[in-house]
This record gives sequence, structure tokens and C-alpha cells, in this order.
Amino acid sequence: MASSLLPADMHVMERGWLSSNNIVCLGDAPAVIDTGHTKHAAQTVTLLAKVLGDQPLATIAHTHLHSDHCGGTAALQAAWPDASTWVPVESLLYVQTWNKDALTFDGTGQRCDPFTASDALIPGNTVRFGNHHWEIHAAPGHDALAILLFEPEHGLLISGDAMWESSVGVIFQHIDGSGGFDTFTDTLALIERLSPRVVIPGHGAPFSRDSGAIDAAFASARKRIEYYKDHPAQHALHAAKVMIKYQMMDFESVPHAGFEAWLNAMPLLPVLHKQHRPDVGFGEWLDLIVEPLFSKGMLRRNETHVMNGD
Ligand SMILES: [Zn+2]
Repeated sequence: MASSLLPADMHVMERGWLSSNNIVCLGDAPAVIDTGHTKHAAQTVTLLAKVLGDQPLATIAHTHLHSDHCGGTAALQAAWPDASTWVPVESLLYVQTWNKDALTFDGTGQRCDPFTASDALIPGNTVRFGNHHWEIHAAPGHDALAILLFEPEHGLLISGDAMWESSVGVIFQHIDGSGGFDTFTDTLALIERLSPRVVIPGHGAPFSRDSGAIDAAFASARKRIEYYKDHPAQHALHAAKVMIKYQMMDFESVPHAGFEAWLNAMPLLPVLHKQHRPDVGFGEWLDLIVEPLFSKGMLRRNETHVMNGD
């Protein structure tokens, strides 16, 4: 959509869950930042082609390489083979060698169509996407290798999953022990120093300083992190539910045996089990996590299949 908060040459294709937003910078060399989930890749190509009109896509860039932010990249590369593809610098080699473990697809049990990358987004550098010059900043916390993009002239921040309007993403650096909750709040402090006028998040609509929404987002995110610091087990519980729900949004419907097999093979779940309830066995813990998803209607089941719910 064209948002009144944004310059006319920028479009945010706001997407429903599973897919991240796709942020389009028009100009002589149009760019898109984040490409959604593999499940929606064909739709992403169609939506983007409409926004671009006759112009070819010149650049594909990513705030980070979670499967809901880079799953459409392969399809975009097929549709616009001359486009250059940019990823956070520390991810470049992992993409070029398609290291599914380092790219977290193995750990999360998620899928992503393989793609290639040519260019690195290096924190400290500035890059031109569309008509705008964007500062690249490291944005660890939600994802260790994530970056964010800041355009100082109009005060635009492309935050990825480092900042949302009304909730906080899973803090994967706390789960893997590489950074903890403080990395996330350090990134919030960086955003506060940048003092954006508009935040374009990875999920949800852009929100502004003038409306008070940015201040409110800082306050609620910090409150949530303080809660998690005091109750880290609750973060693990939340993360486990998110990971399972996310996967079922992709599967939509899966035989019981397939659901069980995915639960038992997903490497992150035993880590979350230890962080949440090491006092119970893994199978018992899985029941503790999964049963409320059914009783609340987030998942459904019949005799043969488990299905995504509301
Ligand atoms: Zn993410």
C-alpha cells in the first residue's frame, strides 16, 4: 500500500502472517526489502510486478534471513534474473554455500527455497535503494545477524523484526545463548538514538512518532523484555508455541504421524523444553505446549489430521 506516512516513491506491501512485509523503494533502480515466505512466493512476484509496472526489479535486500523474510527471494530472482541480492554481511557466505544449519532452517525445521546472494549489507556503510540513501546498522537480539536500514533525510526506519508496533518477536539470541535479552534492548536503544519519524516494521503497518506510536512501541517492548528477564521460562513457552503455530500455518493440514515427527525432529524444541520445564520429560512437555493450542482453537484436529486453526 501507499502510506501517507511515506514518500510517494515507497510502497509497503503489508502481508498477513507467515510472510513478512515487502518494502518497495521505487526509482531508476527499484529495490525490495524482504521477500516473505516461500509459501507465498508466487503471490509476492505478482504483487511486486504490479507495483513496479514496466520497470525491472534491480535489487533484492533482506533485514535478516528468517524463512518469512527471504522465502520469496528465489522466485523474485527467477522473475528478475538481473537483480542483485543483498544479505547481512555475516550471512553472505552461509547463503552462497546454502548452509541450512547456519541459516537456522535446520534448527527451526522451517523451509526456504534456496537462493543466491551477491552483495553484503555491512553495518556502518550506506547503500542506495531506490531514490534513498540508507544507513546500515547491526540489529541483534531477535536474530544475531539482522540489520536495520535508516534513511535520515525522511527519518524512515526499516526495522525488520527488531521493532514492531505492539508486540515483540522471539528473542532467538536468548534461546541460543549468543546474546540474551540485552542485545534486543541494546538495539531498541540504537533505534531511539536514530530517532525515526516512521518505523516500517517487518510485520504490521508503518507507525509514526507524531501519533505517539513509536514511543508506545518502545515502552511496551521494554516492558515485555523486563518481564522475560524476570521470567525467562515464559519466553521459552511463548517461543515454543510460536514455532509450532508458525509451522502449522505452513503445513495447514498434516497427518498426526507427520505432526508428531516434525515435533520430535525440530532441534529447537528440546532447547526450549530445557529452558521452560526441565523438570518434566520431553513427551510430557510437548503435551503441555500443544494441548492449549488445540483448546484455544489455534490448532484443530480430526481423526486423521492436525490442522491450522484461528
Ligand atoms: Zn525474524
